[in-house]
Amino acid sequence: MSTTAGPRTNWAGNITFAAPDFYHPASVGELRTVVARARQVRVLGTGHSFNDMADSPGAQVSLAGLPPEVEVDSAASQVRVAAGLSYASLAGRLDRRGFALRNLASLPHISVAGSCATGTHGSGPLNQCLSAAVTGLELVTADGDVVELSRDDAAFPGAVVHLGALGAVTRLILEVVPSFEVSQRVYEGLPLDVLDDHFAAVMASGYSVSMFADWRAPRLTQLWIKSRADDGTPPVTEEPWFTATPAPAARNPVPGLPADNSTAQLGEPGPWFERLPHFRPEFTPSAGDELQTEYLLPAAYAVPAVHALQRAGDRIAPVLRICEIRMIAADELWLSPAFRQDSVAFHFTWRPDTAAVLPVVSLVERHLAPFGPRPHWGKIFTIPAAELADRYDRLPDFLDLARNYDPGGKFRNAYTARYLGR
Ligand SMILES: Cc1cc2nc3c(=O)[nH]c(=O)nc-3n(C[C@H](O)[C@H](O)[C@H](O)COP(=O)(O)OP(=O)(O)OC[C@H]3O[C@@H](n4cnc5c(N)ncnc54)[C@H](O)[C@@H]3O)c2cc1C
Repeated sequence: MSTTAGPRTNWAGNITFAAPDFYHPASVGELRTVVARARQVRVLGTGHSFNDMADSPGAQVSLAGLPPEVEVDSAASQVRVAAGLSYASLAGRLDRRGFALRNLASLPHISVAGSCATGTHGSGPLNQCLSAAVTGLELVTADGDVVELSRDDAAFPGAVVHLGALGAVTRLILEVVPSFEVSQRVYEGLPLDVLDDHFAAVMASGYSVSMFADWRAPRLTQLWIKSRADDGTPPVTEEPWFTATPAPAARNPVPGLPADNSTAQLGEPGPWFERLPHFRPEFTPSAGDELQTEYLLPAAYAVPAVHALQRAGDRIAPVLRICEIRMIAADELWLSPAFRQDSVAFHFTWRPDTAAVLPVVSLVERHLAPFGPRPHWGKIFTIPAAELADRYDRLPDFLDLARNYDPGGKFRNAYTARYLGR
């Protein structure tokens, strides 16, 4: 176990962690000692969040040095994974055993625990966020005790999307499904007014669909359709589709960037984990030099929200790299941004200029306010805590849970003080 000095930042480099102490335990036993001794502590996953949620006024701990266990229980269709593993490390091992996860985010580089802690998601009207695959978890609580929770526990739906506020999650049990193949095709230039009558149909045209817009012109820049061969959705073809044209070569969703770091397209089938993310694990995902914001709102508001963003297009476009629109099925996890509502998500990859981006983030929030947006917990937002509280009915229950596991507020930090009031 080591304590390292020197500045550490998140992946985007917009947050320099202030935590004075950094620990890298090699076992759960060592982690228990670190947590029990620390006055304040937070776990750092792979640092892909864009705000200060992983920072700590005391110790920060990485679980990347814990044994990278992956134990498949074929009979129960479950896998037990070490919390510090990334989806990239997990996916191949799972696939070799004949299993898959139902969905993945746009990149596989992120840790399983950090992603589930924030309600990270991919796309598909029938696909829930990644946290919804969790059937059990093990965490080290403030006094160093190990607590196990499963779907049978009343607290479980509150503990899965936990924002790092309950303890250090050491293992997760995830539901798995038989491995499957996916092919993806990219279309270009779909006029935005087609969405007025066909938004739901476009989103249902594949297993996982992403729309990309730059809000400069009244059309989607790209439409990524990921199809399974075995789920009854019609195969994507090389024909024009709703007047959108199939891209003749592989694309990167971020305009101007090369396609090398994107997963294979042009309808070529491949395993789930090499198609569901947009970005390949061996490359820097997305632009690498960026900030991100995302809001989930009830799916029924998708078209009015597209119109609202179009109206703000001339303010959004100058600081935007690209906007992605996805769908996420409702779940029962108390702090999940898709809690009890089938959702549409509007994601913004911004240029890396916090001062220029923040006023536009507030502007986007004003334009989306009529639709009750819930921000992605791991991205940049300015919605005040009181408004967030109105959007999460079970927040008081979550706070009870946090007080129960962490009565002294050891896992508290500036982020939880701001948004959870503790
Ligand atoms: C290029 C890029 C693309 C992205 N694409 C998507 C996307 O497609 N969909 C989406 O929803 N999001 C996306 N995100 C956001 C990202 O998925 C989330 O921010 C996610 O939480 C990052 O996981 P992480 O392991 O880096 O967590 P971190 O940022 O390290 O931590 C997130 C939170 O989890 C806590 N935490 C982490 N591990 C543990 C643990 N073991 N125990 C207790 N608490 C823990 C931390 O304290 C912190 O509060 C993207 C981010 C980037 C940089």
